[in-house]
Amino acid sequence: MADTIFSRIMAREISADIVFEDDDALAFRDIDAKAPTHVLVIPKRHIATVADASHENAAMLGSLLVTAARVASDLGLSEDGYRLVINHGRDGGQTVEHLHIHILGGRPMAWPPG
Ligand code: AMP
Repeated sequence: MADTIFSRIMAREISADIVFEDDDALAFRDIDAKAPTHVLVIPKRHIATVADASHENAAMLGSLLVTAARVASDLGLSEDGYRLVINHGRDGGQTVEHLHIHILGGRPMAWPPG
């Protein structure tokens, strides 16, 4: 397992405000929230970035997306809406090398993103 801040959160070496967990995924509040609700959903199996994904990861990635939608619903975001974001690389703004889906909600989102 690669050593990232998210693997340390999974191992409970660093505390986080965890909102959901099952065998495959963990969801916790972003420490630097960019919206009233800002949660990160991560797979427990390490994959650094979506750019590393192959079709062998398709089931895991599909499941992660369904989990993100479920967490968003559990957080009460479904009616007004929310945004799911995956950043990759420097231009995409990825800072943690463990694939994650941002759930952003609780305010209207601008388009296109800045
Ligand atoms: P990204 O820039 O897409 O790689 O997203 C990484 C996110 O992780 C950022 O939004 C950070 O605010 C968030 N983050 C970094 N460290 C922590 C932490 N210890 N607990 C919760 N979120 C974190």
